[in-house]
Amino acid sequence: MNYKASDKLQDLQYFGEYGGVNPSISDSSTYTFISAKTMFDTFEGNTEGCYLYSRHSSPSNLYLGEALAALEGTETANVYGSGMGAITAVILQMCNSGDHIVSSRTIYGGTYAFMKNFLKKFNIKVSFVDTTSIEAIENAITDSTKMIYCEAVSNPLLEVANIAAISTLAKKHELPLVVDNTFSPLSVAPGKLGADVVIHSLTKFINGTSDCVAGVVCGTTDFCLSLKDVNSGAGMLLGSTLDSLRASSILKNMRTLHIRMKKHSENALYLAEKFEQDGLKVSYPGLASHPGHQTMKTQMNSEYGYGGLLTLNVGSLENANALMELMQEKNLGYLAVSLGFYKTLFSAPGTSTSSEIPLEEQIAMGLSEGLIRFSIGLDNDIERTYKTMKGCMEQLHILNLKPVS
Ligand SMILES: *Cc1c(COP(=O)(O)O)cnc(C)c1O
Repeated sequence: MNYKASDKLQDLQYFGEYGGVNPSISDSSTYTFISAKTMFDTFEGNTEGCYLYSRHSSPSNLYLGEALAALEGTETANVYGSGMGAITAVILQMCNSGDHIVSSRTIYGGTYAFMKNFLKKFNIKVSFVDTTSIEAIENAITDSTKMIYCEAVSNPLLEVANIAAISTLAKKHELPLVVDNTFSPLSVAPGKLGADVVIHSLTKFINGTSDCVAGVVCGTTDFCLSLKDVNSGAGMLLGSTLDSLRASSILKNMRTLHIRMKKHSENALYLAEKFEQDGLKVSYPGLASHPGHQTMKTQMNSEYGYGGLLTLNVGSLENANALMELMQEKNLGYLAVSLGFYKTLFSAPGTSTSSEIPLEEQIAMGLSEGLIRFSIGLDNDIERTYKTMKGCMEQLHILNLKPVS
């Protein structure tokens, strides 16, 4: 892959209002107009560069959007108050009552619940399929299908979508492909592989400090403008606006994303390889044993590695809970949902972030009770972390491990 997102980000240049190296933060909900005619034109969407009201757009949100468009290599991007705010706006913008969506079955629990339960209110139907099978996606497409939806690296099972292949299928059927890239910023660039819309929960790696929720939709100028339309834009009318102050702080955090992603990936690969050697049931796209390894290799930007997420199956929920509590006690990280923090975060997705998915469906997709999802932190001495983790597993007799050499 030739697209160098981190160079594009590096090349953005800012001269703040007073010459500051950071753009000034816009601290207004509404904007004055010298002429009444300009205000009317702005409502009609005809005046470039004029701000009207901050639910529509604000300078700070546009700066952050510009950086995220550079990250994904799309024409533009709109930022939102959360990842779900971005996802729901895209779905409701693209689909009308009676329409149909083909979605991956292994997606974020909130997205799954929205599609499965909430979209019933709008009579929008969803087929959940195994998107690693192009045939399964094609078989699910009907005359009413309006969108194909997947995650680049899926939550929580780390399934890898073959974006180029899905995009070819989507183009054949003239359908937009929407990809949630929250788990793999920089390492995968779905827009460059043929996705029409790329979504992120900025709450995770991109912001990286676990201090706010935010989201983004990266896409064409036409689509992003349609989301902002004062008469018919889902982003504008559903109101999941991001606050300017938060937009400015996320923009500043984004500047270290490339360094953080490399470290998250380096640490996760180290642990995954060690755990695998120890005979543990570890799943990580960077391991040759992972079903998505080859796909990931062909579509990733290799310098950022295979990402910071790995899962470990410790056999039962009791084992998972005991291990997570002990690891927290030993200060290896926090028993918490979410991801992309400097400390390792761990949770059992079956009873937390994917609990929206019914048990039978969890089993069908391979999400077992004893699964722990780890978002590996930026630990400086990952060998020390590994030894302490292994000590926790030995102490709990969870697994018959060989002693630490
Ligand atoms: C967290 C997450 C979301 C939802 O984002 P919020 O910012 O919590 O609304 C969507 N998709 C994925 C893959 C996520 O991990």
